[in-house]
Amino acid sequence: MSGTHSDCIFCRIVAGELPSNKVYEDDDLLAFHDIRPAAPVHLLVIPKLHLQSLAQARPEHEAMLGKIMLRCAELARAQGLNDGFRTIINTGPIGCQEVPHLHAHILGGPEPLGAMLPSQLHLKR
Ligand code: AMP
Ligand code: ZN
Repeated sequence: MSGTHSDCIFCRIVAGELPSNKVYEDDDLLAFHDIRPAAPVHLLVIPKLHLQSLAQARPEHEAMLGKIMLRCAELARAQGLNDGFRTIINTGPIGCQEVPHLHAHILGGPEPLGAMLPSQLHLKR
């Protein structure tokens, strides 16, 4: 799926129909503060193109995906996350993706973020 989707909240943010606390924009990407921050710094970096998730990525998306990764590092630097940060791309129901428009989370702050997953109890031996 690609293009712009009128029923997608991130496409509506890109279109300016919904507000966002924007930190970066260019022809291909938009970055803004997550509305429910899970860390002192919590940004989302999205492509302006509607792509449902990383699972739908194809070779023609390679440059855009590279831009997202580089922009994550730039934005983390700009936010003063000089000792590191976490980048997360939740994908599909197993990845607990809530918004079906590809996005990378940037999370960070003065303290270590803790375990990557809250619990590993679901792991079977
Ligand atoms: P995910 O679970 O990876 O799909 O994450 C979706 C993220 O989008 C969550 O962290 C939400 O808090 C965030 N979110 C949802 N709606 C908005 C919005 N209107 N503005 C900013 N962030 C949002
Ligand atoms: Zn969208």
